[in-house]
Amino acid sequence: MTERTDTSRVAPPLAATELTQQRPQRRRPLHEEAAERLRDMIVEGELAPGERVREQAVCDRLGLSRTPLREAMKVLAAEGLVTLQPNRGATVADLSPADIADTFKVIGALEALAGELAVERVDDDDIAEMRVLHYQMALHQTRGELPEYFRLNQRVHERLVELSGNQVLIETYRQLGGRIQRQRFVANRWAGRWEQAMHEHEQMLDALAARDGRRLADILRLHLDNKLTAVEHIDRDGRPRHDAAAD
Ligand SMILES: [Zn+2]
Repeated sequence: MTERTDTSRVAPPLAATELTQQRPQRRRPLHEEAAERLRDMIVEGELAPGERVREQAVCDRLGLSRTPLREAMKVLAAEGLVTLQPNRGATVADLSPADIADTFKVIGALEALAGELAVERVDDDDIAEMRVLHYQMALHQTRGELPEYFRLNQRVHERLVELSGNQVLIETYRQLGGRIQRQRFVANRWAGRWEQAMHEHEQMLDALAARDGRRLADILRLHLDNKLTAVEHIDRDGRPRHDAAAD
């Protein structure tokens, strides 16, 4: 990993490559890096819901010692992604269908509120930044690159929440959002959902650019509702569920 020398105090120019960097330029504490890697492993299904996290295997995989790994686990536990049990270590959270549905509803409401607040504050640079993220994401969608698409999708949603400028909302979203990231990821494997999601993102961008808070809030709520519908039709790996209650 390259370490950036801090010669420039001026913000770098806005460029797609800057915006799509997965990791910030500044060197972060090891446990934060580890938490990010573990989040990706959970979201992408490498660590399955209900699976016990084997410390040694993960340390080897990430090239870490146990101390930062354990610190990372505490971060993930606070986000509801893993549960920590004395003498058993960490287990990947396994939410019930009711917990998942309830969380989607709350996240939908938080994002809708974020949209309403954001339109009051965004400037043209913010909208341009969102547009760049959007087109990068769209490119991955046309290429069928789901993990890359999904990281940008997360960034778009997080950025929108940040643009609300409401710290309580931002923190609440960070605490709750993680627990349904896996479901948000697999939802796109449901027939037609990925294209539908991309279309909804186009409408979001239009509403943001038009600074139409009500329209943006409606689309965000719909986006999360449609995602939940997709999740209810598939199993945890994204395969169609034959016993889906919604059929
Ligand atoms: Zn989205």
